[in-house]
Amino acid sequence: MPVRALRTIGDPLLRSRAADVERAFLHTPGFVELVTDLVDTMRAEGGIGIAAPQIGESLRMAVIEIDASSSRYPDMQAFSRTLFVNPIVTVIDETEQGYWEGCLSVPGLRGYVARPRAVRVDYVDASGGARSLEAEGFLATVLQHELDHLDGVLFVDRVRDTTRLATVENYAKFWARQEGTPEI
Ligand code: ZN
Repeated sequence: MPVRALRTIGDPLLRSRAADVERAFLHTPGFVELVTDLVDTMRAEGGIGIAAPQIGESLRMAVIEIDASSSRYPDMQAFSRTLFVNPIVTVIDETEQGYWEGCLSVPGLRGYVARPRAVRVDYVDASGGARSLEAEGFLATVLQHELDHLDGVLFVDRVRDTTRLATVENYAKFWARQEGTPEI
């Protein structure tokens, strides 16, 4: 269960569309190992979500885990560890909401990103079962951020007002109030 090296911005693999996970891959030792590596790496890096391309596997898989004890911001709800395989996002409320996002693959930067406030995600679980989740608020942003990784999109691509793209230090100095988020 190794913690894997993170791929970072500039690495072409992070900019590729990840491949669908074949059903036959589920239940294999390689799949179980990959899920373990995703979780271990996310936790070791202090993230609340991670997508497979971030650890060098160009597959449509991501994990999200928001620990209530680390909920530093009022809008963050706890979310128990969930694996999303072959997820499809559907916007259910286009009203935009914005958060300052960070990313384990974009070290040292924060940016203000507006996204739809509610989405549904249809996905496959680790056993191959079809699942669906509706989310709003912060969780909806985290889901969209993670699932963007599967299409080669990084949060910096979605910062419309680049005056609101900042180093972590300048984010803390000039921008942080109630708007902050930990690194996604
Ligand atoms: Zn990210």
